[in-house]
Amino acid sequence: MKILVVGNGGREHALVWKLLESPKVSKVICVPGNGGTATLERCQNLPMRVDDFEGIARFANVQGVSLVVVGPEVPLAGGITDFLQSQDLKVFGPTKTGAQIESSKSWAKLFMKKAGIPTAKSKTFIDTAKAREYITQQGAPIVVKADGLAAGKGVVVAETITQAYGAVDALWDQGVRKLVVEEYLTGQEVSVFAVTDGLTYRTLLTAQDHKRIGEGDTGENTGGMGAYSPAPLVTPELMQRIEREVLDPTLAEFQRQKITYCGVLYAGLMISPQGDIKVLEFNCRFGDPETQAILPLLETPLHQILLACVEQKLADFPPIEWKEKQSVCVVAASGGYPGGFQKGKEISGLDLEAEDVFIFHAGTKQKGKGFVTDGGRVLGVTALAEDFDRAIAKAYNAIHQIEFEGIYYRPDIAYRVKSKPPQVTPPPLVA
Ligand code: AMP
Repeated sequence: MKILVVGNGGREHALVWKLLESPKVSKVICVPGNGGTATLERCQNLPMRVDDFEGIARFANVQGVSLVVVGPEVPLAGGITDFLQSQDLKVFGPTKTGAQIESSKSWAKLFMKKAGIPTAKSKTFIDTAKAREYITQQGAPIVVKADGLAAGKGVVVAETITQAYGAVDALWDQGVRKLVVEEYLTGQEVSVFAVTDGLTYRTLLTAQDHKRIGEGDTGENTGGMGAYSPAPLVTPELMQRIEREVLDPTLAEFQRQKITYCGVLYAGLMISPQGDIKVLEFNCRFGDPETQAILPLLETPLHQILLACVEQKLADFPPIEWKEKQSVCVVAASGGYPGGFQKGKEISGLDLEAEDVFIFHAGTKQKGKGFVTDGGRVLGVTALAEDFDRAIAKAYNAIHQIEFEGIYYRPDIAYRVKSKPPQVTPPPLVA
């Protein structure tokens, strides 16, 4: 079978690589793909815009594509699934209506309220004076969010009322006309992934990611500087509660609203120190870089899972199987990211080969026989091992061998799951 994957990030490199593991997949077309997908045998990069729905549909139909997998949220929010389905294509990824669970925070908040899903208390505003008034009433810390998609840059966790006012004004100046002001939550964040055919769902592995640029989770927010999976925080008992309190009511609410949601349901959760679960956000697609950490652990052929979703046969699907290992993905970024950065820097060390080490390209481009940088997040290096300590060591060993001018990666990915350094017994006191 032939599959078309939409997107050009590390997530899409991981998806294409995993799909091609099965000999049943004869070819994957990646629109537009990146330097990594360009090197995969049986993968063709198609230099087309992801919003060229007609072009994608035409190409997919001429090629006889059996399945389209949409990676990023922007085309989903723009209705790529609706259009491709109207052209008789099978698409893994929700329709424009379903994608609102990610593309509109106010829609998602109302959805959660109707479904009785636990989430932070919030209010939606279309004018800044009322938003300020509410912030004054509630006090700080408080969270200000742009309603629409903002590539991870639409959320400000304000520690003071002045900062919150500033966030309202800054978002307004950027053209945001709908704001959500939300109660500040504390605890540990965890990402839960499920695939669904609209009738039932199956959970995938959990993950935790590092959004901040700096060591110790400090500094500016980024698309994600690393991730690890599975999240030890999510015990089987907690997972059962997450299913009961979050995933079951989400699917039921989609059904109640007559929305057939086929694709990934990704819940960003805050687990309080007392163990309370609250939804921070929903996403309507695979996470990046969580996918680069999760997919190398998957044993079941990925195309079979995705096909079961588009054909609404997930209820009959056998249990999804995973390797009994732990996975860590460290992202290498261009110097300056998430601010300004330069492109076109030659990358070396990509030919390293080690067992259970995977290099996923994000912002790279082929140049001659090699690769140059072509984005903020350049690569993700994933390593699997029997435990997190070994996976961390392996991932860093590998990434240390990769070089390009200005390379930056956090030195502390997965620090939360690292075992403590061995306790040194102090030598006995000599009298
Ligand atoms: P979101 O896009 O809504 O997930 O927000 C991005 C990030 O902002 C989250 O991963 C959290 O780190 C933080 N955040 C969002 N909402 C809250 C909240 N209510 N309380 C504390 N932190 C939050």
